[in-house]
Amino acid sequence: MKPIAHVFAAEGPIAGRLSRYERRDGQVRLAQAVEDVMDGGGVLLGEAGTGTGKTLAYLAPALRSGLRVVVSTGTKNLQEQIFFRDLAFLKEALGAEVRCACLKGQENYLCLTRLHSFLHSPKCLAFPSKEVARLEQWAQITTTGDRMELPGLSDDAPIWREVASTKETRIGQKCPNYENCFITKARRDAAVADLVVVNHHLYFADIATRRRGGAVLPGHDVVIFDEAHLIEDIATEFFSTRVSSARVARVIEDSLAAVGAARFAEDPQEENRKKAAASLNTLCANLFDRFRGDQPGRRDLGEVPIDDNAQRAFFRLDSALESFELSLRAREGRDEGVDHCAARIADIRTDLADVLDHRDPANVYWVETKPRSVVLGASPIDISAYFHDEVLTVRDSVVLCSATLSTGGDFRFLKSRLGIDFDVEELVVEAPFDYRRQSRVYLPAAMPDPRSDGFLDAARTEIDRLVHLTGGGALILCTSYRNMHAIHEALTASWPGPVLRQGEAPKSSLISEFRNERDGVLVATAAFWQGVDIPGDDLRLVIIDKLPFAAPGDPVTAARIDHMTRAGGNAFRDYQVPRAALMLKQGFGRLIRTTHDRGIVAILDARLRTKGYGASFLKTLPPAEVTVDFEQLKQWWEEP
Ligand code: SF4
Repeated sequence: MKPIAHVFAAEGPIAGRLSRYERRDGQVRLAQAVEDVMDGGGVLLGEAGTGTGKTLAYLAPALRSGLRVVVSTGTKNLQEQIFFRDLAFLKEALGAEVRCACLKGQENYLCLTRLHSFLHSPKCLAFPSKEVARLEQWAQITTTGDRMELPGLSDDAPIWREVASTKETRIGQKCPNYENCFITKARRDAAVADLVVVNHHLYFADIATRRRGGAVLPGHDVVIFDEAHLIEDIATEFFSTRVSSARVARVIEDSLAAVGAARFAEDPQEENRKKAAASLNTLCANLFDRFRGDQPGRRDLGEVPIDDNAQRAFFRLDSALESFELSLRAREGRDEGVDHCAARIADIRTDLADVLDHRDPANVYWVETKPRSVVLGASPIDISAYFHDEVLTVRDSVVLCSATLSTGGDFRFLKSRLGIDFDVEELVVEAPFDYRRQSRVYLPAAMPDPRSDGFLDAARTEIDRLVHLTGGGALILCTSYRNMHAIHEALTASWPGPVLRQGEAPKSSLISEFRNERDGVLVATAAFWQGVDIPGDDLRLVIIDKLPFAAPGDPVTAARIDHMTRAGGNAFRDYQVPRAALMLKQGFGRLIRTTHDRGIVAILDARLRTKGYGASFLKTLPPAEVTVDFEQLKQWWEEP
């Protein structure tokens, strides 16, 4: 086989398929490092800046390796882009005869059994008939059942919630539709593929399933994590336990529907079941309402006393759930739907006991108040041991890559968070941009401390003059909803161009609207700090209101800080600062996407200049020139 460098050479197979191709040294180095770690085993940490072509750099060795590879990425959008664009292109360019599959979480697929029940239920009448007809027509022609194919379906479309497969409602092998089921097909395709593209949510769902003796993904030798900086947060979510009042209400509703549909001839438990069902909703409200907060959001459960009354409410609910479950089990083996509901109730009882009764010091316990439900949960404070034992030491080769993995070339933060306590390969590949020529970092000299009362007024003034300087084309990344709303309101009054705000429309629509308006401004929070790709002149200015420290009020963050402090560490230096620095680097990364882009990143947080740790943040950013003087900035911007 020719060396991997040939794939990327000026006369290589990729170049032959592109009209304008430039060989990138960093891309070749990354591809070589990935191939080496696949050949010899081990772990590679590869930071590759925007524009290095990292996707092709890891896909090429994966296609040539002859090994079974899983590529896992942060979001479904990126997963689709990798599978349908990059992988399809590279397979053809290399003439690779490799079986590939794309597998998503089950909630992305249509459940035929739920669709059938929905179409025959009174609930269906509550939806616009056009919407129902569109769904029904699509269900007849789709070969994948993947919601991505259904045009115009918003991310949170209520109709999809009625017909999607879910962990709770998927019956499995005994389902009458099992053979035609879209998930069954997708998993079978993945089972025989050599390269499977998934997202991190599915990857960790697989690990959680393996703990219970099952599996979602096929066995594999190599795993490549793209967007690896997201692993800790997503893994924490999957290793958490949560029970909501809505989950309890749903299982009661589904159980009654399943018993009704089963039409048992004689049913000795019918009376018991009816009684238990009648009181369950009240007992559920009795327990969960005790934990409901005044405001939506998460609180540490340690702050909420679990007194005798709460204990009694828990025991009463548990005992009612037990009798309900037993009444369903009285018909065990007669109907799959009923048996499945009984198993769901057993899971709820275990989870509820785990959160309220069996406290584990390795977890943080929390309660989340939502508009229509209360969630009780437990999350691991530290996932490093799980990642070490269930990924790093299980797979022959593990590649972790992203544009933001290190702070100034130092990978210690990532390694400590993911349990990488042994020698690994490390590589930093700089972006192929001339940041000194293409960009400026502006730290306004007159900004007050972001925690002071005068901050928002001063921020509004700075934002106003910056947006006027660039004529819009501005993305304003805020660290709170409060700031987002205040800044949006001020700009709506002072800026004549369109001022868009996160939440007004789905993210993708806002981005395309922004790109269509040369003088547009888009104000957003955390969801837009990453995954926004606006190359060219449409985006000329990125403004960041504050350093993106994780909210210390979040119970998981607070528990991690506390845990590190108790162990004698410096949580601020070793956890809060590097985490925020990587997030800041993500925010900066929105600006320069190609060698032709030119623009300004303004960071309004004075702590970058006044605090000792400010230097750590600046060291993490790409090597752009920094200025604190608006006139100097203006001069640079207006240069021809
Ligand atoms: S196997 Fe599960 S997802 Fe598939 S049709 Fe049956 S219930 Fe739905």
